Amino acid sequence: MDYLNTGEARCALCGTAAGTSPCAACRELDYRDAIRAHCTRTRSTSPLDIARTIMSHPRFPLAGQAHHPLVAAALVTAWGNATGADAGARLDAAIEKADSIPGGFCAGFGADAAAIACGIAVSTIEGTTIKAEHAAGRSRAHGLTGQAMLHIASGTGNRCCKRSVYGVLEVATAYFDAVLGVPLAPSSAPIACPFVDRNKLCNRERCRYHPAGASGHAERARLVVVP
Ligand SMILES: [Zn+2]
Repeated sequence: MDYLNTGEARCALCGTAAGTSPCAACRELDYRDAIRAHCTRTRSTSPLDIARTIMSHPRFPLAGQAHHPLVAAALVTAWGNATGADAGARLDAAIEKADSIPGGFCAGFGADAAAIACGIAVSTIEGTTIKAEHAAGRSRAHGLTGQAMLHIASGTGNRCCKRSVYGVLEVATAYFDAVLGVPLAPSSAPIACPFVDRNKLCNRERCRYHPAGASGHAERARLVVVP
């Protein structure tokens, strides 16, 4: 995917009318600042659209740790836009917490960090503590982590951070509506993963996000159990 030659008049990340996307300034951002640049500007209520735009930044890695703050930030941002709440401080906290989970966590620690990042988003939104008065909030956060973890556990083939991001954000979109009462928007277009040819561990046609078999909305990930 050649993001620099899309002919976009505006930078997809910061919105500047620069004639290129990303603009010259955004092109130099590391993944944390690319996440912040887009999340502080966008008015989208679709965590999938937010994450897909950020992942299309040419310096956003194909795999690894960057995907953890991406998931948490996309959810906090979409929640803020859907509710009208000020997500600013929560966004910073969610990025910081999720970015502390190292890459490779999914393979050796028995838990996928993309799923944990969903729980980080809910914990941060709810402002949960260890106290009894926050038991319900912790439960809602852990509930989403569990739903997202079960979704990833059902996957086969190579680990793919793009597939994990798409899947957990589909689960989270359904969960926010069903459990938190916050309707987030689905992806604005069926997901046809643009990273297929760059990703040496791509599961290709076995992945439901592969362009050849992208079923998009028809097979959206579903909650296992709604608490
Ligand atoms: Zn920009």
